[in-house]
Amino acid sequence: MTISIKDLNKKYGEQWALKNVSLNVDKGEVIGLLGPNGAGKSTLMKCIVGALEPTSGEILVNDRSVKDHAFETKQFIGYLPENNPLYMDMYVKEYLSFVADIRKQTSQSIDEVIEKVGLTPEKNKKIKQLSKGYKQRVGLAQAIIHQPDILILDEPTNGLDPNQIIEIRNLIKEVGENKTVIISTHIMQEVAALCSRVVLLNKGEKLADKSIVEFQGKY
Ligand code: ADP
Ligand code: ADP
Repeated sequence: MTISIKDLNKKYGEQWALKNVSLNVDKGEVIGLLGPNGAGKSTLMKCIVGALEPTSGEILVNDRSVKDHAFETKQFIGYLPENNPLYMDMYVKEYLSFVADIRKQTSQSIDEVIEKVGLTPEKNKKIKQLSKGYKQRVGLAQAIIHQPDILILDEPTNGLDPNQIIEIRNLIKEVGENKTVIISTHIMQEVAALCSRVVLLNKGEKLADKSIVEFQGKY
């Protein structure tokens, strides 16, 4: 089991963001975490990556408790937060070198990742000069620089125009190959385009967990 979530609850003050969510994700699965705004998608992802402590429940990543092994967990996981805070005044290559340094990666891996996400022609530009689609490529590059075997992508195509959406989806397919991936979205077509399984969240509760084929037949 790559990710195993058991009876997860998260409360912000009096507000329940996750209610008794359980979920098992096997190696190589691509899960679409589908739900409207406020469903709890970001909260669930932040708990999985160890950025947020659940109120109760357990999360195992590669059979280790995220709570007890926060540092190791981060080495297995590549995370693209929603509204990824990029350092807009840095140059693309400079920023990714900085991330690689934190991740203890070689300079060779920086050029490889820049090539992989199609940023080679942009690598000497400042991040703030890039289009939204290219900024998202930088986000994907920072998520994969340490070759994680799990990718957690929070609304990766949100706010992009239709062409950029197609490009980023294709890139996600490429960089997600042979990895375990969870993608959150409020758009059904995104799930259909990318995922093998759908987990439907609403008001913090898991309402459905089905293969994409079953799901499309039912909803
Ligand atoms: P989604 O990603 O599906 O839009 P979120 O996980 O962001 O959902 O939010 C789930 C619920 O928790 C929402 O009602 C949201 O307003 C609330 N919430 C999220 N973050 C916080 C926070 N830091 N403090 C209080 N409430 C929060
Ligand atoms: P999103 O669902 O868009 O990813 P987040 O949950 O990441 O939103 O929230 C963005 C920021 O706003 C975070 O700092 C989060 O803690 C905060 N936040 C979100 N919802 C609330 C809320 N209802 N009350 C207070 N802070 C919130």
